[in-house]
Amino acid sequence: MDLKDSIRQLSGVGDKRAENLATLGIETLEDLLSYYPFRYEDIQERQLNEILDQEKVTLKGTVVSPAVLSRFGYKKSRLQFRMMQGHDVFGVSFFNQPYLKDKVNVSEEIAVYGKWDAKRKSLTGMKILGAQQEEEFAPIYHVNKVVRQTTLIQLIKQGFEQYYTVIEENLPLSLLEKYRLLSRQEAMYAMHFPKNAKEHHQAKRRVIFEEFFLFQMALQGLRQKERAEVNGLAVHYDVQALKAFTKSLPFELTQAQKRVTNEICRDLKSPNHMHRLLQGDVGSGKTVVAAIALYATVTAGFQGALMVPTEILAQQHMESFVELFAQTPVKVALLTGSTKTKERREILAQLASGELDVLVGTHALIQEDVNFKRLGLVITDEQHRFGVNQRKILREKGLKPDVLFMTATPIPRTLAITAYGEMDVSIIDELPAGRIPVETRWIRPQQLEQVLTSCQKELAKGHQMYVICPLIEESEMLDVQNAVAVFEELQAFYAPKYQVSLLHGKMKNQEKEAIMETFKQNQSQILVSTTVIEVGVNVPNATMMLIIDADRFGLAQLHQLRGRVGRGAAASTCILVANPKNEVGKKRMQIMTETTNGFVVSEKDLELRGPGEVFGSRQSGLPEFATADLVADGHILEVAKTEAESIWQKKNWEILPDYTALVAYLQVQQAQKAFFD
Ligand code: ADP
Ligand code: MG
Repeated sequence: MDLKDSIRQLSGVGDKRAENLATLGIETLEDLLSYYPFRYEDIQERQLNEILDQEKVTLKGTVVSPAVLSRFGYKKSRLQFRMMQGHDVFGVSFFNQPYLKDKVNVSEEIAVYGKWDAKRKSLTGMKILGAQQEEEFAPIYHVNKVVRQTTLIQLIKQGFEQYYTVIEENLPLSLLEKYRLLSRQEAMYAMHFPKNAKEHHQAKRRVIFEEFFLFQMALQGLRQKERAEVNGLAVHYDVQALKAFTKSLPFELTQAQKRVTNEICRDLKSPNHMHRLLQGDVGSGKTVVAAIALYATVTAGFQGALMVPTEILAQQHMESFVELFAQTPVKVALLTGSTKTKERREILAQLASGELDVLVGTHALIQEDVNFKRLGLVITDEQHRFGVNQRKILREKGLKPDVLFMTATPIPRTLAITAYGEMDVSIIDELPAGRIPVETRWIRPQQLEQVLTSCQKELAKGHQMYVICPLIEESEMLDVQNAVAVFEELQAFYAPKYQVSLLHGKMKNQEKEAIMETFKQNQSQILVSTTVIEVGVNVPNATMMLIIDADRFGLAQLHQLRGRVGRGAAASTCILVANPKNEVGKKRMQIMTETTNGFVVSEKDLELRGPGEVFGSRQSGLPEFATADLVADGHILEVAKTEAESIWQKKNWEILPDYTALVAYLQVQQAQKAFFD
């Protein structure tokens, strides 16, 4: 007997019932016993004189009148009787549960759980508990049309009766003691049938720890494997050349840039695989760090690639690199979906021959016919936009290149630990000196005209402005219509003094580039755009940003957008135009006005909206935990991670007696591929 047994082992579970239970994902005893309630009903017995109107309570008493069943309408019924508690008599009605009639017998003592109606002195019953009710909490499960609460509870009870003794501990004893955790047996049982609130809390604590810990064990194992991969590449770059290159830059690196550059270079040199996430707020200077890493790779005789999500961004990185590498022999090319066939063929040939050192591009870069001669380093910018599979394809190209993922969307720590726990993380937590934080204001649509007028002052100083149009998720067509409307209005408002131009997602790439170029050259002062400019665009002379219907955007996205201003020496402003309908919406606008720190923004966003929304759990590979909550239980996650790390750091930990059960459990899990599908 063990928990992997099929639920058919229980009496009363045949083909039909097994099939029904499978609709809840319950196939084994383990599934059943860890199918925890999503809430509990407090069914402590109460006295009539202490309960409030509409409160849900359990009342115990003696039945003093026979139950009368009246039927009305189609399949509708009411069962009524009276009960006595002490000297008080009260009425009880059950709706549409005619079968309860047999359970109600005059002079017998019963307990009824239901909702109290103080005015009518009667209880609308939900269930009959029997007089010998022991637990104070009744579990409530997510069920469906084919499995009922009572069936489930009865099966779970039966499951525990037969299998309680075979529930094995999977956590090391040392951890149970250190954190005073309940045993697996106790915790599983108490998750269903806690005696009181305290026991429930203890059980939950243990279950959450277990979930996080097992996940972290698997994740840290993966990380260990990545690192230990000895046939990774050792990129022996030219230290002197790299120093000279860094010196030639038009500015000195910030301390944070220096630190992460060192971390990356250390990975490059080592024969272990680099699998590193570089996080840095917008404007923190990730591009130059990427350039240094690529330069190092090239001096070692390897090629490098930079992959970005949009053509505009690819174009812009290309320009930065051309400039940064101008005084070096590094040869860079750009490959995107709109690269002409002939040019493309040329690039591919040079790439294969090794003539080309660095390739910048969009997804076009991972197509099948793109082959490098000696790919040593792959960098992806804004990696959250690349699906897990695309990342994999790229890594499989060439000679197991080192991989650096860059992101400007700061990821809250709990999510980073979970989604990228197998990676090493470098953080640029400092902006280049002299930056003035962007002042952010939130206005209502009625104030828009006034604001547009005051923007004229800034425009008169020679500065430029972005106007971001609302995001309409349902339809790109509406996005465009909206943008066109805003564009026309602004043109009417500002012409002929200032030029307004329009950029949207439906435009051809060449058109987009031409418009970006006009804006960069200050031939137009106002750029109306849908979110195509979201990532990476760099026009330091633009000091104003107006975001229309700002409450339609996620906070991370607003923060990204805002990062487009505040890039030059002049003070910048970001104006959020929004009329949020609810408190969360208002709170979100407020947060934007209060901080310019991307990490703070993302933490707050996580609190307000939950991990799924913030992160898009589908594409990210963020696992779903059954009981644990990434936001509420973050502190337990930290502990679980630390413990898992320290175990993996022990030599040959797998053979130590304290971990026997854990090793066995993880092996089974791995065989089932529970974690990393
Ligand atoms: P992001 O991290 O958002 O990609 P960028 O790499 O685009 O940031 O850098 C933003 C701007 O800051 C660029 O104009 C870049 O040249 C400049 N920059 C980067 N590092 C420094 C530095 N250490 N000192 C001054 N300016 C810098
Ligand atoms: Mg960037």
